[in-house]
Amino acid sequence: MDEPRDDMTPFEAVNWFFHRAADRVGLDDQTRAVLAGTYREIRVQVALRRDDGSVQTVYGYRVQHNGARGPYKGGVRFHPEADLEEVRALASLMTWKTAVVELPFGGAKGGVQVDPKQLSLPELERLTRRYMSQVSYVVGVNRDIMAPDVNTNAQTMAWMMDAYGQRKGHTPGIVTGKPVELGGSLGREAATGRGVVMVTNEMVAAAGKSPEQMTMAIQGFGNVGSWTARVGAADGYKVVAVSDVNGGIYAAHGLPVADLLQHIEETGTVVGYPGCDALTNEELLELDVDVLVPAALGGVITKANADAIKARWVVEGANHPVTPAADGVLAGNGITVVPDILANAGGVTVSYFEWTQNIQQFAWDEERVNTELGKVMREAVRQVRDRSVADGTSLRDAAFSIAVERVAQAAHLRGYV
Ligand code: NAD
Repeated sequence: MDEPRDDMTPFEAVNWFFHRAADRVGLDDQTRAVLAGTYREIRVQVALRRDDGSVQTVYGYRVQHNGARGPYKGGVRFHPEADLEEVRALASLMTWKTAVVELPFGGAKGGVQVDPKQLSLPELERLTRRYMSQVSYVVGVNRDIMAPDVNTNAQTMAWMMDAYGQRKGHTPGIVTGKPVELGGSLGREAATGRGVVMVTNEMVAAAGKSPEQMTMAIQGFGNVGSWTARVGAADGYKVVAVSDVNGGIYAAHGLPVADLLQHIEETGTVVGYPGCDALTNEELLELDVDVLVPAALGGVITKANADAIKARWVVEGANHPVTPAADGVLAGNGITVVPDILANAGGVTVSYFEWTQNIQQFAWDEERVNTELGKVMREAVRQVRDRSVADGTSLRDAAFSIAVERVAQAAHLRGYV
């Protein structure tokens, strides 16, 4: 294979890992061609009525990568960089992720290319409803199910569910990550971060260590980052640094996460929390910590900074935070990367639980959700680790091999390819 380049598009980067797995598992050319592409891509024009009466034209996307293993499943993000190529990458990661944790889903993703920070709440609601209405022709409770991602949340899902319901009738299973009052699952909001910590716990235990001996730095303090911090601190990790889009903070003695959350509630950012040193997002990545959790955006660890990473484990809370070129550098430096398609699969796992609860019109208690999540995550870690030992590959390569085999087998059994 060609050497990976740092200027690859996000989809090229994910496919670089896919092709390496396809080579390893001996995938035939026809199946390879199917899985290297996407099944369906739609781009919709969203005419957004601003509060001052003007109309702003923005574009939204929904990409369905592969549905061999079940209905398409994937979040929707609102971000200025959510272009088609980024959404393709995220959709394909969902195909591989749902296969690694053995959920009966395919992979999809959605995005609206807009800066939501510039919009009022009523504008966000109009944007969300318009987008959902435009893509409603290709989604469905047994076709494609949406969820929150960057800059979207339970409220966004409530508007989406309502917009879809106005066209098709009440359909709570069309979105996951909804408010619990509307059929959302207990434990869903915390699930991705909880899964990140569960996976980290397995790594740490296998190394004969305990969380109390571990320092942790987290980039991004939204849904994934803040819940990783909360659950991580409760499990004993010393969270020494966190950041958000405005910058980061560092405290060698560890941050009091509950109090920090109160500060964010009041100020909207981690920056300025008393008794800490300020640091940039770039500096956070290079801290000498045991566990580094990138939990913001993709492509933050590149060939340019990979040699400066000092963490022992990089646990990918975010999707594709490490470029293929950087991945090789980290491996060469003895750093273990726990790949996104394993590490952040807790979110889609509890989304699956939410979808099944909606279909059955029955709600689980939170203890059951967390117990079942733990079973799924531990089993996936076991399988990926065993495969990496058997094949003598990284955890990422092992996870991709497992996923590619499962998706290819489903496609063959269906007679799709
Ligand atoms: P979010 O919008 O809740 O939070 C994003 C966080 O990243 C915020 O704290 C924001 O300030 C910060 N951020 C944004 N731009 C940044 C930048 N340039 N530098 C540093 N920090 C920046 O989003 P989220 O749902 O927590 O998603 C974070 C990542 O995790 C994404 O890659 C997403 O695809 C992935 N992910 C999310 C879920 C989920 O359930 N929400 C599941 C799996 C993976």
